[in-house]
Amino acid sequence: MPPMIDMEGQKIGRLTVGEFAHCNRFGGAHWNVTCACGNTLVVNGRDLRRGHTLSCGCLFREMMAASMKRLQRKQRLLREAFRGTELGSK
Ligand SMILES: [Zn+2]
Repeated sequence: MPPMIDMEGQKIGRLTVGEFAHCNRFGGAHWNVTCACGNTLVVNGRDLRRGHTLSCGCLFREMMAASMKRLQRKQRLLREAFRGTELGSK
């Protein structure tokens, strides 16, 4: 069954939609997509249109890494703020 909605050539997040891949047993079209980082994957067109899938996963990994960095910075600032106090001596 061909896809109801042609998404070929669309750019969503970091992904560029390529050729139609297949329909699953519920009739959901899946597409071959290429991520800006070079990875290729097959994703559900509905997830693409809803913005659920914006990258191959690299975007999520980068966001996690960035928030970890922020957290570590916050912890360092807190440690520095408490340095020399009773709390900081522990
Ligand atoms: Zn990627």
